[in-house]
Amino acid sequence: MRSTHMISRAVQLPSEIRMLRQQVRDFLNAERAAGTILGRPDSWLTGWDPGFTRRLAERGWVGMALPREYGGSGRGNLERYVVIEELLAAGAPVSAHWVADRQAGPSILRHGTEEQRRRFLPRIAAGQCFFSIGMSEQHSGSDLASVRTRAERTGNGWRLTGTKMWTGGAHVNDYAIVLARTDESADRHAGLSQFIVDLRDPRIRVEPIRLLSGEHTFNYVHLEAVELADDALLGHAGDGWQQVTGELALERSGPERFLSTLPLLIALVAELRRGACSPEQHARVGRLTARLASIRQLSLSVAAALEAGRPADVQAALVKDLGTRFEGELINEAREILPVAARFDATRGSYPELLATAILHSPGYTLRGGTNEILRGIITRGLEASR
Ligand SMILES: Cc1cc2nc3c(=O)[nH]c(=O)nc-3n(C[C@H](O)[C@H](O)[C@H](O)COP(=O)(O)OP(=O)(O)OC[C@H]3O[C@@H](n4cnc5c(N)ncnc54)[C@H](O)[C@@H]3O)c2cc1C
Repeated sequence: MRSTHMISRAVQLPSEIRMLRQQVRDFLNAERAAGTILGRPDSWLTGWDPGFTRRLAERGWVGMALPREYGGSGRGNLERYVVIEELLAAGAPVSAHWVADRQAGPSILRHGTEEQRRRFLPRIAAGQCFFSIGMSEQHSGSDLASVRTRAERTGNGWRLTGTKMWTGGAHVNDYAIVLARTDESADRHAGLSQFIVDLRDPRIRVEPIRLLSGEHTFNYVHLEAVELADDALLGHAGDGWQQVTGELALERSGPERFLSTLPLLIALVAELRRGACSPEQHARVGRLTARLASIRQLSLSVAAALEAGRPADVQAALVKDLGTRFEGELINEAREILPVAARFDATRGSYPELLATAILHSPGYTLRGGTNEILRGIITRGLEASR
């Protein structure tokens, strides 16, 4: 049980990080005063504001972990962790750059050619180039290796055909990293590859998938014989499965997997402060906060393990399972602690509107990025292997 023991040790953040945290808070306070932050739940998914992203990038807080030679800040993952947890807690509109910063940039750094690194990474770090994730399809979510989108060799590149589903931000972003089958005869894992696809290509048709709230964040992306140049291939043909697995580790391990509804808890406390807060209400908020603190400590341990280059897939799956369940349970607790009618048509940023948003987004918390059932499979196999 060595691996599970590792995540129970408390991580001490370096003291210089305190100054960074304060700088981020000062920036967020100024943005809040300017009305650009409404403290909304799920802001990393639906808060699309390229202007906010660019202001963040000017301070070096986008592409923080990318090396300086590619326009990044060359700071570690723990510093990045502090910045993103502050942004998430504030409910800041960070969805424009979220995928580029979290996984597309690191993936291009790791697998891309020198030419691809120079083309994409400086623009990502400048907050001027946004990415979507093109993994899932109608019948390939949990079983990702069964994707049917295919890329065929042409004289000077590839022809991409198929339909991706749940592609967040495809209607507003610049590129998607698409997982496609390039070899029908190979083993289903070996025959996959990844491509960097320009979402403005005329042979791409983007069709909205609306959330329960009616918001347009997700899409079907129909790839209708899209012609790609050779240099659209990311990494080596046939290595798509290993590459996508590495991306999923980044996608699953961050603090957005337990902080999506934290702005609701913050708003709840503000509401309680307005009136007389009963001992029962106090105690229930205290219990929620204690749970949050313990999940955060586990999540920080995962970040520290990744920073030290230690594998943490099992630990990340555990934190995501605990964290995403907490996101939903926080809403139910909030409704009991302060019974207020949730209203999606109430003033944006008001408590009834934040509550309605959190509720209407809740089916997705335990699904996106890999369902909790799949994560529990990973956890079980990891525990078996460590016996
Ligand atoms: C809000 C949201 C945002 C998303 N964003 C993106 C995105 O930007 N890009 C992208 O590519 N994808 C995205 N996804 C897709 C997401 O990754 C998939 O929905 C997820 O992996 C589940 O796949 P599925 O929907 O096909 O469900 P299925 O795989 O069909 O699963 C259906 C049910 O069966 C269970 N199940 C399946 N297999 C097993 C098993 N082996 N053992 C036990 N139970 C199992 C699942 O847990 C689930 O409960 C998003 C999804 C959501 C809801």
